[in-house]
Amino acid sequence: MGVKHAIGLNSATAALHIALTALNLPKGKKVLVPSLTFASTACAVLYNGLVPVFVDSDPITLGMDLADMKRKYDKDCVAVMPVHFTGHPVPMDELMPWARGKNLKVIEDCAHTTGMVKRGTPTYKGKALGTWGDFGCYSFEEKKLMTTGDGGMIVSNNDELVQNIKAYRWVGIDKDNWKTAQSYVNANKDAMHWFYEINVLGYKYNMNDLSASIGLAQLKKLDKMNARRSQIIERYMRGIEGINGVIPIVPFDVDKYVYQMFGIRAEKRDELMIFLKSKGIATGCHYTPLTRQPLFKPYAKDCSYIEQEADKFITLPLHYELTDEEVDYIIKYIKEFYA
Ligand SMILES: *Cc1c(COP(=O)(O)O)cnc(C)c1O
Repeated sequence: MGVKHAIGLNSATAALHIALTALNLPKGKKVLVPSLTFASTACAVLYNGLVPVFVDSDPITLGMDLADMKRKYDKDCVAVMPVHFTGHPVPMDELMPWARGKNLKVIEDCAHTTGMVKRGTPTYKGKALGTWGDFGCYSFEEKKLMTTGDGGMIVSNNDELVQNIKAYRWVGIDKDNWKTAQSYVNANKDAMHWFYEINVLGYKYNMNDLSASIGLAQLKKLDKMNARRSQIIERYMRGIEGINGVIPIVPFDVDKYVYQMFGIRAEKRDELMIFLKSKGIATGCHYTPLTRQPLFKPYAKDCSYIEQEADKFITLPLHYELTDEEVDYIIKYIKEFYA
C-alpha cells in the first residue's frame, strides 16, 4: 500500500470499530455514514457510543452523495466514513478538503477495494484509496477481493493515531509476542521479557498466524485474481449492453479501479431473481439501505433516493474462477427474461 502502518486484524468490522475508538471522540457526537453499506460501518459508530447520521447515495456512483452529506452536517459531527461501494471511489479529492475544513476525522471503508489495477499505480487520482483519510479499513472475509478466511487491516500514515491500535486489537497489550520472544532468545540479560502493561480497554481482534499465512499466499495471487474479475466485469458489461430494463449498478471502469462486486439495476427485479434462480444462477442484493433496518431506523433521516433505487439491485456472480461460458450463460438468461 505504500503506507507507514498496516495492522492486521480479524475482520473489517474490528478495523472500523477500533479505528473509530483510536480517534478518541466524545460520546454522543455524530458520524456521517452512507445508508448504502454493510451493517459494520454503522455498527462501528454505535459500538463507540456515537450517533450515525445516514447520508443518501449519489445516483450514479452510489457512493455517499456529497451534497446530501454537506446538508446533513451539523456542529455535532466529528467524523465521516465514506464507503467505496463495489470498489468505485467516493470523490475523495472533494470530500477531504471539506472534511478538514470542518475538522472532521475520516475513515475510509475499503472492504470492496483491495489491490490496484496495475501494481504501483494508485487507485484514485494519484493516491491509493484507503490513504486519503486518517484510516483505511480493509476486509479479507471470504467474499472479498482476497481472503484470510476472516480478516481485516487498518492502514494509516499517522504515527500518533495508530499508537493505541495495537493495544486495542489485543486486549490492551501494546506488545508483540513474537518480538518479545525474539529479544529473550537473542540476549540472556533481560529477565523482564514477559512484562507488559495494559493502559487501554482492548479487544480480541488480532489476526491469527493461520489466517495470516493464508493471506500471504492470497497476496501473491491478488493481481491475477483482480485482473480476472475485471475481465468478467467487462464481459458482463458487453453482454448486458442494449438490454432494455437493465443498467450496470455503477459505472464500472475496470481500467482504473478494482471491484469486489458486479451488479445491475433491473426492472422487475424480484421476477428476474426468481427466473435466474430457476436456471441455477445465484444472485444477491447489496444492500438493503441501513435506514430501512429496524436497528438503525431511529437514526434515519431522509435517504429516499437509495431507499427506492435499492429495490432494483441484483448482485451477480463474480468469482475469479467463473468461466467465460458461465458468464455467457448468465447473460443469455437475463436477455431471455427481458425478451
Ligand atoms: C464486508 C464488509 C465489511 C465487514 O467486513 P468483515 O471483514 O466481514 O468484518 C464492512 N464494510 C463493508 C462495506 C463490507 O462489504
